[in-house]
Amino acid sequence: MSQESLPFLPFVKPEIDEETIQGVADVLRSGWITTGPQNQKFEAALSEYFGGRPVRAYNSGTATLEIGLRIAGVGPGDEVITTPASWVATSNVIYEVGATPVFADIDPVTRNIDLDLVEKAITPRTKAIIPVYLAGLPVDMDRLYEIARAHQLRVIEDAAQAIGSTWKGKRIGAFGDIVSFSFHPNKNLTSIEGGALVLNNEEEATLATKYRLQGITRTGFDGMDCDVLGGKYNLTDVAARVGLGQIAHIERFNAQRRQLVRAYFERLEGGAAVKLGIGLPVADFENSNWHMFQITLPLERLKLDRAGFMEQLKLRGIGSGVHYPAIHLFTLYRERGFKPGMFPHAERFGATTVTLPLFTQMTEGDVARVCAAVNEICEQYGK
Ligand SMILES: *Cc1c(COP(=O)(O)O)cnc(C)c1O
Repeated sequence: MSQESLPFLPFVKPEIDEETIQGVADVLRSGWITTGPQNQKFEAALSEYFGGRPVRAYNSGTATLEIGLRIAGVGPGDEVITTPASWVATSNVIYEVGATPVFADIDPVTRNIDLDLVEKAITPRTKAIIPVYLAGLPVDMDRLYEIARAHQLRVIEDAAQAIGSTWKGKRIGAFGDIVSFSFHPNKNLTSIEGGALVLNNEEEATLATKYRLQGITRTGFDGMDCDVLGGKYNLTDVAARVGLGQIAHIERFNAQRRQLVRAYFERLEGGAAVKLGIGLPVADFENSNWHMFQITLPLERLKLDRAGFMEQLKLRGIGSGVHYPAIHLFTLYRERGFKPGMFPHAERFGATTVTLPLFTQMTEGDVARVCAAVNEICEQYGK
């Protein structure tokens, strides 16, 4: 088989329709290109999507997390419990507001923060929890909010990857405390860069607006005051127009992802890779939006390391990614006292995980090609 002739299959690729591209051109011609009417429409569409809760849009899902922490009153002296198996933004923002991240290891099956360990990590200084729904799979949301209520903790949900995910039929973001989303191009819905915060009430929403732009409040024609220390996190109208074009399709996007993931399971289960010990994600077709499809490699049974495995995929024209190395092993975190061995499940996951291609414009034929490559590499390099 001459796989060289097949086009390269990236691990992710956003789908932007022609109507959106036209809409962006219209915004560019309109004379108003930064935060304005498109941003307002995008926020209204998101608010409707999240059951009418107040929503504010931002220029990143990192900004939303940081501002979510500020709105929750998290600052110096406070501890925030989170997972070491996430994009480093999740815990960098805790340092950014002057607080201290406290990690709780993951459940190796769900790859999400282990809620039993969250309870054990609570101290008198704990102020908030940042759960992450890795690859779009929520944690046990009932249990999460039971813990938060019992210990009077705020929750800033890092739902960056979970737009369209549900819990017992309710959309993530449509309930809970403060919920943060990212619209980075790799996410299920993109605004090129961007993010959104779902808030509890108008008071929080007002604060969220201030933090977004220098802490400014305008009144009348010429009134202006600055009463909190805000930053520069507003979303441009060009980006908001992209997001609007995406939200119209989010349910179809997520349905297509689920369909592709079903094909992954069908083709991998019982195959050479799984027999060798390749780990698959939890087969959740109820709650997850399937932001990613991540396998884990049985490195002790392979004559290749992870980079070698990824290189073999690349030689077959297939892209892959790593989401994510354990956060506490990064230099910045080691310098602050974290050590290898502290969170063994996250360390193992971070060292063995590979993200396979998953995006809406892929076909089931592409999935078959990836699975054949994974099985072939395992046959060739298994020991
Ligand atoms: C993408 C992501 C973020 C950050 O979002 P940006 O828009 O890239 O700033 C934070 N947390 C998680 C889990 C993410 O996947």
